[in-house]
Amino acid sequence: MRTTLFILLAITSAFAQTGQRTIAITIDDLPVVSTRRDLKNRQEITGKLLGHIKKAKIPAIGFVNENKLYANEKRDEAQVDLLRMWTDAGLELGNHTYSHRSLNAIPLAEYQSDLLKGESITRELLVKKKRELRFFRHPYLQTGRSIEVKAQFDAFLKQHGYTIAPVSIDNADYIFSAAYDKAFDKGDLESMKKVGDAYVPYMEAKVEYWERQSMKLFGREISQTLLMHANFINSDYMDDLAAMLRRRGYKFVDLEQALKDEAYRLPDTYIGPAGISWVHRWAMEKGREFVLGDEPKVPEFVMKLSGFESE
Ligand SMILES: [Zn+2]
Repeated sequence: MRTTLFILLAITSAFAQTGQRTIAITIDDLPVVSTRRDLKNRQEITGKLLGHIKKAKIPAIGFVNENKLYANEKRDEAQVDLLRMWTDAGLELGNHTYSHRSLNAIPLAEYQSDLLKGESITRELLVKKKRELRFFRHPYLQTGRSIEVKAQFDAFLKQHGYTIAPVSIDNADYIFSAAYDKAFDKGDLESMKKVGDAYVPYMEAKVEYWERQSMKLFGREISQTLLMHANFINSDYMDDLAAMLRRRGYKFVDLEQALKDEAYRLPDTYIGPAGISWVHRWAMEKGREFVLGDEPKVPEFVMKLSGFESE
């Protein structure tokens, strides 16, 4: 017994010394973002995605667009049930605004009322699980074009009890998803398979890039926050993504835990047009030379299939 305990302690302290990689998985555009709009497919996407998440014991958080929970201005209980599957799985939900518009594109007051409109059902479901609504994710990761707007919005978020959910590992899973959806809609199983086969290696290359970008900026790997979407391709490949992350030595933590990393105390002063990783925001603040130039790209054939002109 004593020997076992000693070995366990030795292993624990070894992890503490080497610093195990940690990552929070954040999933946007709940309940589902896909060209597959019928209820049965949406239930299947949600069920499979949550099945993978539960199996891998990932304390993920999902960010909701509540406009998807209404049909003709009326609450659509079947769509609300999709969201309830998340809270029933013990997962946290956050606010991603009601109608997914960009803070760069509409006036702040309009954006704020859209945010408040998007919290009622989410909060209702969270309260039933004795949880609070506490995180906000900007649609498109677009955070405002002036320091004044950002400061006013920060004050608004604070007043309403929200913490911004930053992203360190940004990627284009939505482009792969669009390609996957389109191939599915055409009955083109061969293209679906090709896109799927390219997906996890692409995501791994991205993860590896952000690990290096973190090293370049901080001299260490920060606790990562990965952005993904509640889409069809992730419902098929979440299992493989989780296995890839585990293989790289990641432990899954919740967003609150990840944000305890002091890197996230750094201010975000970026007022450019793009929706970018917080690590790039901090890198640019420090100087252009801190931004690594070799960020992996979506393969050409996936771009073509997706219909997106650029990333
Ligand atoms: Zn979104």
